[in-house]
Amino acid sequence: MSKISIIGYPRIGEKRELKKITESYLKGKSSKEELLKEAKELRKKNWMTQHKKGVDFIPSNDFSFYDTFLDTAFALNIIPSRYKNLGLDDIDIYFAMAKGYQKNGIDVRALEMKKWFNTNYHYIVPELEDDVDIRLNGSKMFDECSEAESLKIKTRPVITGPFTLLKLCKIKSEKTLSDYITPVLNVYKEIIKRLDNLKIEFLQLDEPALVKDLTEEDISIFIKIYEKLLSDRGNIKILLQTYFGDVRDVYEKVISMEFDAIGLDFVEGEKTLELIREYGFPKNTILFTGIINGKNIWKNNYEKSINIIRELSERYIDKNRLVLNTSCSLLHTPYTLRNETKMKNEYRVQMAFAEEKLDELKDLKILMDDPDYKKNSIYIKNQEIISSKQNLKEFYSSKIREKIKSLKDNDFKREPSFSERIKKQHALLRLPILPTTTIGSFPQTQEVRKLRNSFKNGEISQEEYKEEIKNKIKEVIALQEKIDLDVLVHGEFERNDMVEYFGENLKGFLFTENGWVQSYGTRGVKPPIIFGDVERVNPITIEWIKYAHDLTNKPVKGMLTGPVTILNWSFPREDMSLEEICFQIGLAIKDEVMDLEESGIGIIQIDEAALREKLPLRKSNWKSNYLEWAIKAFRLVHSSVKPETQIHTHMCYSDFDDIIEEISDMDADVITIESAKSDLRMLDVLNNNNYDKEVGPGVYDIHSPRVPSIEEFETQISKLIDKLNYKRLWINPDCGLKTRGEEETVKSLNNMLSAVKNLRKKYNK
Ligand code: GLN
Ligand code: ZN
Repeated sequence: MSKISIIGYPRIGEKRELKKITESYLKGKSSKEELLKEAKELRKKNWMTQHKKGVDFIPSNDFSFYDTFLDTAFALNIIPSRYKNLGLDDIDIYFAMAKGYQKNGIDVRALEMKKWFNTNYHYIVPELEDDVDIRLNGSKMFDECSEAESLKIKTRPVITGPFTLLKLCKIKSEKTLSDYITPVLNVYKEIIKRLDNLKIEFLQLDEPALVKDLTEEDISIFIKIYEKLLSDRGNIKILLQTYFGDVRDVYEKVISMEFDAIGLDFVEGEKTLELIREYGFPKNTILFTGIINGKNIWKNNYEKSINIIRELSERYIDKNRLVLNTSCSLLHTPYTLRNETKMKNEYRVQMAFAEEKLDELKDLKILMDDPDYKKNSIYIKNQEIISSKQNLKEFYSSKIREKIKSLKDNDFKREPSFSERIKKQHALLRLPILPTTTIGSFPQTQEVRKLRNSFKNGEISQEEYKEEIKNKIKEVIALQEKIDLDVLVHGEFERNDMVEYFGENLKGFLFTENGWVQSYGTRGVKPPIIFGDVERVNPITIEWIKYAHDLTNKPVKGMLTGPVTILNWSFPREDMSLEEICFQIGLAIKDEVMDLEESGIGIIQIDEAALREKLPLRKSNWKSNYLEWAIKAFRLVHSSVKPETQIHTHMCYSDFDDIIEEISDMDADVITIESAKSDLRMLDVLNNNNYDKEVGPGVYDIHSPRVPSIEEFETQISKLIDKLNYKRLWINPDCGLKTRGEEETVKSLNNMLSAVKNLRKKYNK
């Protein structure tokens, strides 16, 4: 009999209970006891759910108050002294690392946060200081094992493995990674000993860093670590768990080592099956077979899965040593479809959230053990549902499919070249040097949020709603004129979120009521679901932007979200390539671009905040598997505009040394980027790569309420001018202002303008 397992479960709570209690605790409104009690309750619920669904290997320590990666660092006492010295309780030191600590005149910032591999989850980056005292700290993992034990549930504790931990820590000393290996290893050995005493059977060590391109040095570090660890593991069985891809660079090594179990990803790991076919799989090792997609929300196609499992069990692995598993932690999917009461049944049956994926594992186990599985009603029903998607004609558009098929090279190329268009644009726009603008959104006050909600809930009519939004637009246009910005925006008051808003207005998208997925710490997002062919049925933004345009003599910039960002922040369908989905979205946004131009909007910004996010983990796949079509999709959106129409794009980061060619290929006339926080290195990158377009490197950080002085702005802008010809330079904040307060925004923008005017005198000779 095969067994079933999962790598990890979502932990924020079905109704985001953890978010609520944590935020309340941090505000001082709930006690530590209340916080701990709720957390315990949530863990119990998760374990009971898995137990009831028949999961054989249930994980523990996958719970976290903020981030499991931070938990691991914390368990190894990798805690920078600035937090230790706060003299707080353990849990408060932990929150200080995650969120910063500002109290009683003390001000310590949070540790940096980074995207977790190719997901939208963010982890906290631990820092290894010179004198870090690496040792076992706290007892979270052991306590959680015992807690489950007291519910009569045996669990397998999970912790980030030493290799991934070391690779992702920031080293803040003269030492190198190798210098930390021994102390880190000692803690893992200590952990193993303690688990052995608790009579735990398995320890899961998560090593997703193994699916990236590895250097010779990486490989030797990995081997060194695990040879030592495996030789000293007592009675504990070690599961080496990998996910987010295949482990082609170390597979041969891994199978030659003495792991008791190896977890491989058969969903994202394009070469996983090939590797097994080529090199086999060790006879006495258990394979945790990652077959259920932990990242997407679609129902598993049992036919496909069974084929893989059957091949494995017939040729390479004894059935008893084959454990059916998820491809990665279910952390990246919402809790359950049970809470989606408004979704039509025919759509809902096509999906599986975390809880439903547990059922799928069980189904597959039954089918696997059934020699005549094709006659099994579980199988028959699954295949019926999978094929019934084709019948949902509402989501199929032959018109769109034809359009995509008939796209020609010209559709992806804007004519004439930048050097010619920019002359025309300058002549038409007649902007001063160092033109000033903003990135689009203005502060979203309580009042604006309430307004949108009342409209959504049907408390006010569409007319009333429109009237109110237009009043806000009128105010923000007047405000920008007063500040004397050069290129104005309409403020984006009608948008809750830059992706959701477009999703809601395009055909092909579905939305959930409770489909929250943890993005970081206490923050959840509800990604739209791309269900069918994407099509723009009606104009989306024209009415608002045209209204703003008619209120002023200054140019108003139209504001759209680009196709790559819309795709990357949604759950994509699986019956079509990402490239094709992206082109469909591209065509829809293109319709909007053309309508804006038609309405007299001369500047259009297409935001690609998330362009970098889905870069494949292996660099060798960047171009062929992603960048080529992503950049094409962006070009498709603006390829047909007149030369006079100026296309802007905005990105929320500045580290694109490695994709600068592609950024240039996007062929936008102006690019605005983040640079207030980072050094000005990226301007060198632009220079060194002959980037010839106009650039707006953000001159202040919108993530902080701080108001930079006029002098500070002048210094910052002067530095930019030293690097880049002032004739190509735009002056703007580094992202949208929607999370900022009104007062600080006005002050900052006023200072920005004063600085620009001072500098213009100098250069305008
Ligand atoms: N136009 C969007 C805004 O100003 C851009 C947001 C973003 O890049 N994240 O809010
Ligand atoms: Zn941004």
